[in-house]
Amino acid sequence: MAKIKMNVPLVEMDGDEMTRIIWKMIKEIILEPYVELKTEYYDLGLEYRDKTDDQVTVDAAMATKKYGVAVKCATITPDAERIKEYNLKQMWKSPNGTIRSILDGTVFRAPIVVSSIKPSVRTWKKPITIARHAYGDIYKDVEYRVEGPGKAELVFTTAGGEVSRQTIHEFKGAGVILGMHNIDDSIKSFARACFNYALDQKQDLWFATKQTISKKYDHTFKDLFEEVFEKEYKKKFQDANIEYFYTLIDDAVARIIRSEGGMIWACKNYDGDVMSDMVATAFGSLAMMTSVLVSPDGKYEYEAAHGTVQRHYYQHLKGQETSTNSMATLFAWSGALRKRGELDGIKELVDFADKLEAASIKTIEEGVMTKDLAQLSEISDKKVVNTREFLIEVNKRLAEMLKA
Ligand code: NAP
Ligand code: MG
Repeated sequence: MAKIKMNVPLVEMDGDEMTRIIWKMIKEIILEPYVELKTEYYDLGLEYRDKTDDQVTVDAAMATKKYGVAVKCATITPDAERIKEYNLKQMWKSPNGTIRSILDGTVFRAPIVVSSIKPSVRTWKKPITIARHAYGDIYKDVEYRVEGPGKAELVFTTAGGEVSRQTIHEFKGAGVILGMHNIDDSIKSFARACFNYALDQKQDLWFATKQTISKKYDHTFKDLFEEVFEKEYKKKFQDANIEYFYTLIDDAVARIIRSEGGMIWACKNYDGDVMSDMVATAFGSLAMMTSVLVSPDGKYEYEAAHGTVQRHYYQHLKGQETSTNSMATLFAWSGALRKRGELDGIKELVDFADKLEAASIKTIEEGVMTKDLAQLSEISDKKVVNTREFLIEVNKRLAEMLKA
């Protein structure tokens, strides 16, 4: 078989630790035999980020803006320990945060579903994708500890100097106060990213807030979603035969648990933080969660939801065998290659991505899996393999499928 050719480069962001090892193996074992990979490579490994004063992260994000599609390996977000470990010039910011703010993107997380691993929620048959708003609310709040009696007020001064003043509470004793905000532009960008992604995936979009209690704050989210939907997306949703569904957050939670899954669930920042951990855990494993950052103007960055799997890396460095799950990183590559294929009209690349995903799932369904899944899978005849063996097993099935 002749190798599949690409026209436009895919932005490739390398990363750290165990996932960096997996990254190289995936390219060697799974991709390079079949695809003449055309990537623009950026090394987001911590050493090179430090060497370039983190300029490489900004360059990689700008390249994503230019070419439209990126695939990213997990990276270390430095803390005090990492500064010592890597002798860093400073505590560089999270690369994901930097990329997200340059692309003004929304993160969508979806589990990879395999039949032998049953979700904790019996009715769930299809993946549930969580879209989390990434700006504001308690993540950019101001808090105050009240130590004794006094009056708390909410004061807003317009640019012209007009003052509005409301009493929050007359404290008779100690307590707490919190001030938070959001902005219409960010909420509308979030809404557009969600509506676009729903059209892209041909899945219903759900959104929920507590607008009955929070009559201005949460109601603004509900109203802006409604406004953007009515003006820009209603017709497109009708044509695609999908639905936009709004309900109260408590009702949404109850309905999600009783559902079959298969929808995109848009969440406010805090709800998304909590619900994405709930959904991931209920579907089985963090190692099976994929993640894609989508900008309002349709740029895509694919990655695994998990981190660099540090504990396994230290084992690997000691020469010990590891059984690290590469599924989410494989799906980051397949997602990015499929999107590149769709945008450039390369059918073979789309087909390759579909088969790569099918071969990966088939491997696990036939009982060949890494240690983390062996504990969850209901298959009786399991073969637990190491990191490299798993990829070789996927490749065996992929080669068969590509021949067919
Ligand atoms: P982690 O890499 O997600 O791993 C936490 C634990 O989850 C692992 O020790 C392992 O459990 C299990 N696990 C995660 N992924 C797995 C996989 N693919 N296969 C098998 N088991 C897997 O989180 P962390 O160790 O807390 O963080 C390590 C580094 O990752 C940190 O420096 C953090 O900054 C970074 N991080 C990056 C991203 C990103 O780039 N998107 C996201 C999160 C964290 P066992 O040890 O029990 O086997
Ligand atoms: Mg969280």
